[in-house]
Amino acid sequence: LIAFLLYLFYLVAPIGQLVEGAVQFQNGLAALKRIREVEDLPGEPSGATGASDGTPVGVRFDDVVFQYGEDRERVHHGVTFDVPPGGLTALVGPSGAGKSTVFALLERFYEHQSGTITVDGRDIRDWPLADLRAALGYVEQDAPVLAGTLRENLLFAAPDATEEDLTRAVRRTRLDDLVARLPEGLDTAVGHRGVLLSGGERQRVAIARALLRRPRLLLLDEATSQLDAVNELRLREVIAEVAAETTVLVIAHRLSTVTGADRIVVMEAGQVRAVGSHDDLVGADELYRELAATQFLVA
Ligand code: ADP
Ligand code: MG
Repeated sequence: LIAFLLYLFYLVAPIGQLVEGAVQFQNGLAALKRIREVEDLPGEPSGATGASDGTPVGVRFDDVVFQYGEDRERVHHGVTFDVPPGGLTALVGPSGAGKSTVFALLERFYEHQSGTITVDGRDIRDWPLADLRAALGYVEQDAPVLAGTLRENLLFAAPDATEEDLTRAVRRTRLDDLVARLPEGLDTAVGHRGVLLSGGERQRVAIARALLRRPRLLLLDEATSQLDAVNELRLREVIAEVAAETTVLVIAHRLSTVTGADRIVVMEAGQVRAVGSHDDLVGADELYRELAATQFLVA
């Protein structure tokens, strides 16, 4: 349980400053080592390997109902949508619609009350937790860069990655220019005690970190802050390239991410109100048209 809580802390806590420290970095590494040892939790299906082969998986939400606590209001009122294996699916909708909660349920940080969530056709309750989490690469909103070198940041969750894996992840996330620019390349200290990275670079570092674990489904909760044109273009290229090999589900806050999506799921007030391509939705869905007109720049 402690390892799980530390893992949660590492993954989801909005703790930019807190993780900016060598001490926390070490704690995080220790937690990750321990999480690997937690293979079969009591009551969990057995046979976990905690590994991922990177082959794309599909996802289905079927009439999912969820509230964060007994005394809380419902967040999901019967959410239904399909994500086929491979390609890019974007989740859009106003703040509070329940988009980030979709990711929290997929990661099984919380249990839904009714309905079914499947990954690769298998109910997530039937997946060994270690395998489910290994299959998912989760890039949280405004993911923090840790104190330490860029290399340490990238290898944080995948200490066994080879130099070749690292080079490939850097190239796929268009971080090669950054690495070339840094005085000591990958061994340059970054974050709060080193070279400060831009929002776009931080986001791509977080994507590279997730890719090194070879996820079967990349969950990307896009940063809400504005990216400059170069960073926006790079992000778009990176998402397209990753989506050519694995499944990508992105909570999108900018139009440029969405226009390249294979399908868009529009959420509002805990339900899916429309699904389609950008062109379909501009024609068919009033809320989507409004979001598109404001470039989605809502939290
Ligand atoms: P979105 O990502 O679409 O903005 P969220 O899924 O983050 O929406 O939130 C949906 C609703 O759930 C909001 O009313 C939010 O306040 C609530 N909520 C989100 N996270 C938590 C949490 N950890 N505990 C309690 N309520 C939460
Ligand atoms: Mg959100």
